Amino acid sequence: MDSPDRTIPLIDLQPQHQEIAAEAQRAIASVVESAAFINGPDVAAFEGEFAEYVSTQFCIGVGSGTAALKLSMQALDIGPGDEVIVPANTFIACAFAVSQLGARPIFVDMDEHYTIDADRVEEAISPRTKAVMAVHLYGNGADMARIGKIALKHRLKVIEDVSQAHGARLNGKRLGSFGDVAAFSFYPGKNLGAFGDAGAVCTNDAGIDRKIRLLRDLGQVRRHEHVVVGDNSRLDSLQAAILRIKLRHLDSWNAERRSAAQRYDALLCESGFKPPPRRNGCEHVYQYYVVNVCDRKRVLGQLSDRGIKAAIHHPVPIHLQPAYRHLGIARGRFPRSEETCETVLSLPIFPGITNAQVDRVASVLRDHAKPAYHVWA
Ligand SMILES: *Cc1c(COP(=O)(O)O)cnc(C)c1O
Repeated sequence: MDSPDRTIPLIDLQPQHQEIAAEAQRAIASVVESAAFINGPDVAAFEGEFAEYVSTQFCIGVGSGTAALKLSMQALDIGPGDEVIVPANTFIACAFAVSQLGARPIFVDMDEHYTIDADRVEEAISPRTKAVMAVHLYGNGADMARIGKIALKHRLKVIEDVSQAHGARLNGKRLGSFGDVAAFSFYPGKNLGAFGDAGAVCTNDAGIDRKIRLLRDLGQVRRHEHVVVGDNSRLDSLQAAILRIKLRHLDSWNAERRSAAQRYDALLCESGFKPPPRRNGCEHVYQYYVVNVCDRKRVLGQLSDRGIKAAIHHPVPIHLQPAYRHLGIARGRFPRSEETCETVLSLPIFPGITNAQVDRVASVLRDHAKPAYHVWA
C-alpha cells in the first residue's frame, strides 16, 4: 500500500518494523528484565550467528561502523607513520578511521562500479603503505580478486568496509569474508540496521579477534586488569537482541530490494538511464539505488514537489572535504569521483517498497530528468 500522505521516503523502516514488531518487543522486555544491558547473552549469540552468516570464524560486536573500521586497523597495528589506501568516493568515516589512528589515508579514484579502482591501487603504494580498504559501495562488491592479488604481492592487509553491503555475495562468497578484517555498520538505515548505533568486525584471524575484544572493552582481560589502552566501544545487549531478529530476515529483505531495483532498471532503461553497475558474479543488495542525472538540483526539486525524498551519496569526494583541506589535494586529482559526485542521485529503495511507489518515482525521472553519462579514458 502506498503511504496515505503519498510521500515516499528514501528509506521507510516501517514495513520492516511491522514484520518484527511483536518479536522485538518481547526481546527488549527480556533484556530489560535481565538487566544485562552490557555483555548480555544476546551479544555473544549475535556474534556467533553473524559470523556464521558471513562465513568467517569470528565476529566481534562493537559500538558503530566507524568504531569497527578503527578497531580493525588498530588490531592490524596501523598507526602513526603508516598509510592506508582508501577510495576517494565513499563515506567520510572510512578516511576518518585512518586519520584517528594517526595514519594517513591515501586516496585512489573509483572504477566504473563506484568502488576503488584496482588499476590505480598499485601506483598509490609506498614503503609506508600497510593496507588497502575496499568499500562495497551502495551494495555492489569491490574487485576483491584483483585487490587480493595486489595485497599479496605487496604484503598489504585488506580491510573490507561492508557497511553498505550486508548479505551481498561475490562469486558465491559473502562480502566480509574476503579481507583480513571486515567492518560492518548497523546504523538504522543500513540493510541490517539496529535501533541505534551498532557495528561489528568479522575476521578469520584469532589474533585480531582477541585484540579487538580487548580494545573494545577498555583493554580488560578480566575485571580491573587492563592490559592495553583500550576504548569503550561495545555492542550493547538491546542492539544485539534486535540484530538477531533482523538477521533472520536479511536475505528476504535484500531480495525485496533486488526486485525493486529490477523494476527501476526496466522502467528507467526505457528513458535512456543506465542501470546501476553490478559487478560480474556479484549479488548486489542495493543499499542505495543510484542513477546519474544532469541538473540534479532541479531534479531533486521536481521529486520533492511530489513528496519523493531522494538523496545524494555522497555529494563531495573525501579529498575535497574541508576536514582534508590540509592535505592540499586539488580538484581534478580524482576526476571520476569528482564528476560522479556531481551527478549521483539515490532513489527511494527499502524492503516493502511497493510497485506503485517505484513507478511513481520512475515516472518523475522519466518526465523531468535527463540521464548523465560519464566517459572516462
Ligand atoms: C554507514 C557507513 C559507515 C559508518 O558507520 P556508522 O555506524 O555510522 O559509524 C562507514 N562506512 C560506510 C561505507 C558506511 O556506509
